[in-house]
Amino acid sequence: MNYANLLAVAFEEAQQGFDEGGVPVGAALFDAEGRLLGRGRNRRVQDNDPSVHGETDAFRKAGRQKTYRDKILVTTLAPCWYCSGLIRQFNIGTVVVGESANFAGHLDWLREVGVKVVELNDSACTELMARFIRQSPGIWFEDIGECDCEA
Ligand SMILES: [Zn+2]
Repeated sequence: MNYANLLAVAFEEAQQGFDEGGVPVGAALFDAEGRLLGRGRNRRVQDNDPSVHGETDAFRKAGRQKTYRDKILVTTLAPCWYCSGLIRQFNIGTVVVGESANFAGHLDWLREVGVKVVELNDSACTELMARFIRQSPGIWFEDIGECDCEA
């Protein structure tokens, strides 16, 4: 499986989110053959909806699936607790992570239950997120559930 090609779809979503003024995290769900099932992006800002993360958006767009064991969830940034919970809840077999430099996520917590985690350390994903965090730290900290009010 060419994971970089799959990541390109998630990155397009992240870039679109950035251009919309939103949190630039994109994601996509693929089947075992690499066919796209659903794609989405964080729309906290755009929709005023804190529950729309890249991963949950792609997951919902993909509709019902009989099993997720053979599915591949690709995300531009390491998943937060909320999205990691979704991965464990539905037993998603493979998670491809664009980068974990700006946010480490909980990848060991996923590996612990047998999720195959593929880290791509992609520089385009890292740079786009770093740019966003520099430009809109308040929105970023709100997104990961951390208040920056004392800062
Ligand atoms: Zn999330």
